[in-house]
Amino acid sequence: MAEERTLIIIKPDGVQRHLTGEIITRFEKKGFKLVAAKFMQIPESLAHQHYGVHKGKPFFEGVVKYLSSSPSMVMVWQAKGVIAMARKLMGATFGYEAEAGTIRGDFSCSRGYNLIHGSDSQESAEFEIGLYFKPEEIAKYELSDECWLYGQND
Ligand code: UDP
Ligand code: MG
Repeated sequence: MAEERTLIIIKPDGVQRHLTGEIITRFEKKGFKLVAAKFMQIPESLAHQHYGVHKGKPFFEGVVKYLSSSPSMVMVWQAKGVIAMARKLMGATFGYEAEAGTIRGDFSCSRGYNLIHGSDSQESAEFEIGLYFKPEEIAKYELSDECWLYGQND
């Protein structure tokens, strides 16, 4: 499997509900590598671009307001197959439907306020990372325990 990068955002409700550390810990413990991070209030115009694929849907204006309403923790995480794995750790979109043990399943009861964003494909990951980070802002480094993350046959 190839090394991938994914854009993960701890959305305003995640930050306000003191879940930033908890969520980062889950990704760290899984074995993903943090390669970029920015704590920022996402401007409404950027939230529009971010959720551009949902333009025209009934929840579009609401989700743009939500994402830009208060600071978020915007990050890039790297690992082999990280895009799909991160989505699994996040859980289904609506908190009330997400499986227990996932981030949304454990901490959200809501439809819209679901704590976290994660890219859903390689194409969206590339597009979304480019919205928030310049190439030189993405760190390239080795974790000291990286040799223990993957087996010989991975
Ligand atoms: N959303 C919402 N109502 C809906 C569907 C989505 O408020 O009926 C919000 C929710 O915050 C979700 C975001 O819009 O995370 C983007 O929706 P998407 O279907 O891409 O879900 P995700 O990829 O975040 O699981
Ligand atoms: Mg999505």
